[in-house]
Amino acid sequence: MKHLDAWRDMEAAQSYARAIAAITTRAWTIMEICGSQTHSIVRYGIDRMMPDGVTLLHGPGCPVCVTPAAIIDAAIAIAKRREVTLCSFGDMLRVPGEHGSLLNARAAGADVRFVYSPLDALRIARNEPHRCVVFLAIGFETTAPATAMAVLQAEREGLENFFLLVAHVRVPPALEAILSDAASGVQGILAAGHVCTVMGYREYEAIAQRFHVPVVVTGFEPIDLLQGIYLCIKQLETRRAEVENPYYRAVHPEGNRAAQAAMMKVFAVRARAWRGLGEIAESGLGFAPAYHRFDALARFTSGIMPADCPTECIAAELLRARKRPADCPAFGTRCTPEHPLGPTMVSSEGVCAAYYRYRRTQTVRERSTVSAPNGGEQGAV
Ligand code: SF4
Repeated sequence: MKHLDAWRDMEAAQSYARAIAAITTRAWTIMEICGSQTHSIVRYGIDRMMPDGVTLLHGPGCPVCVTPAAIIDAAIAIAKRREVTLCSFGDMLRVPGEHGSLLNARAAGADVRFVYSPLDALRIARNEPHRCVVFLAIGFETTAPATAMAVLQAEREGLENFFLLVAHVRVPPALEAILSDAASGVQGILAAGHVCTVMGYREYEAIAQRFHVPVVVTGFEPIDLLQGIYLCIKQLETRRAEVENPYYRAVHPEGNRAAQAAMMKVFAVRARAWRGLGEIAESGLGFAPAYHRFDALARFTSGIMPADCPTECIAAELLRARKRPADCPAFGTRCTPEHPLGPTMVSSEGVCAAYYRYRRTQTVRERSTVSAPNGGEQGAV
């Protein structure tokens, strides 16, 4: 606790805020990648500590939010089979697909269970050999190694009733897609510390050079974030675009080699659709040929994923760092955590959930006056 206190120290935070103001000579737009970082920024009011012109935008780093509706619909179709027990994380069960949520399917009689990890699903498969247990595996490079370990364990035990519906995604290709977007105003990046704990940060060096954006590997506590913003603006002000790692207490440049090896033994890089962002080349993980027998999509469906349909939810614009929750006419009125219309309100890491939890009154009040960042459309009233 003592250690944590140092990263939440108010005097240190104010000192960083003053230092940021002192080096800032013009407007800058910085995007944090991770939903947990977004929650810390909103919770601790870090965006309000910024000098005029410095804008913090929220990126695509919530795994529940970026999972396409088509995957959820595929999970529902699989869960409806009498021999199947479908398992996933609690938030994932509440996210709407085109045809309701997994919780709706459970209410209609499907065997849908929430678990805390893929190993929980593996335990169910071990204990209930008469059931086909399918784990809906979502998340970035942070969680993919644990999924891979569950597959390797199932292989060791010779379990034949354990399957995965894989929706794992990779951060660097999504980052490149956002930075390649002509409408993007993102000038600096706070990279997600936990992804870098697994993957290191070598992949970001090419991105920093190609797009001439500074990338700072950042943790999740207030001082981590303020330090990341300070270093990012310092680079921007001096026209540098490098990768910096002040989060060295957790991140090694090469990441965790053992975790990477497990992940790349079971999975192979492939194109993946993201909710609202469409298909991005090399942005996902699918089974390597040797592990294809664990693929629930091939085992229980035709294996073909339909495309998502458009909805009134503007989560896609939020995940591209083009808009904020205040720009959504449904925020806080028709869309709430109790009655969510989209994934960014469902997920505990979602940006709409963050603003609803910490800024609801202000955000609803400001909706008529807040302009979308980067010259986007005026927020609807
Ligand atoms: S407030 Fe609801 S409808 Fe609007 S973007 Fe967020 S999740 Fe989607």
